[in-house]
Amino acid sequence: MSVEVHVLASGSDGNCTVVKYEDRAVMIDEGISFKAIKERMDVNGLDPSCIDAILVTHEHSDHVSGVGATARKLGIPLMCNENTFRSFDPGNVDYRPIRMMNSFQVAGMEIISLPTSHNAAEPCSYLLQAGDEKVLIATDTGKLTFPVEHALKEADIAVIESNYDKHMLDYGPYPPSLKRLIDSDMGHMCNVATANAIKRTMTDHKRKIFLAHLSRHNNEPDIARETVSNITGIRRMELDCLEFKGDTRIIRM
Ligand SMILES: [Zn+2]
Ligand SMILES: [Zn+2]
Repeated sequence: MSVEVHVLASGSDGNCTVVKYEDRAVMIDEGISFKAIKERMDVNGLDPSCIDAILVTHEHSDHVSGVGATARKLGIPLMCNENTFRSFDPGNVDYRPIRMMNSFQVAGMEIISLPTSHNAAEPCSYLLQAGDEKVLIATDTGKLTFPVEHALKEADIAVIESNYDKHMLDYGPYPPSLKRLIDSDMGHMCNVATANAIKRTMTDHKRKIFLAHLSRHNNEPDIARETVSNITGIRRMELDCLEFKGDTRIIRM
């Protein structure tokens, strides 16, 4: 047991994932408060002092609203590309720029940012190599870009967006312009698109799939799991996701 993925928040109410390798860790996004994330780390038995840096995927508030405060409270650097950094205000932080598709080392892991397709300045996903294992954190993308699709194929643990059920979005409460954006290549992935991507990238190699960033208004855990299970043939009980606000998970190989 060497790599652990702690999903502390996932969805439009806020996102935060911590990837821990041996005794060090990196946080990816922090879209809730420091107080709430601290409580969820306690629930998961995660010591905040093991976190070496916060990586940001893109500047939407459900990914960055707690980033500045958390970086300051934990005394750790904030890392993202410069276009993303210029698009939000984390306050006074120790900023370390990174570049798309250029790998870097944090917490004993080799990490690379891969481009996603989303209505943000320079959005990305992260692929983390922890020893022999690869972890992909890919949400907020209207379609899978070639590098993310390739990473999904190779990943041992894949935290991948399954944002909405098409029927629920079409008949749901959002205004037409927002529905069109969500459903576009610059928006989010629906359950069927995620299922098809998982199916396309299936090999003999065993992966753990976590369905992430489920919409509170346009999706439900059971619908996401059932859709992905029906299309991919993966058993429902092997497809995990957060069930309610405040829920957390620890994913291990
Ligand atoms: Zn988001
Ligand atoms: Zn977003």
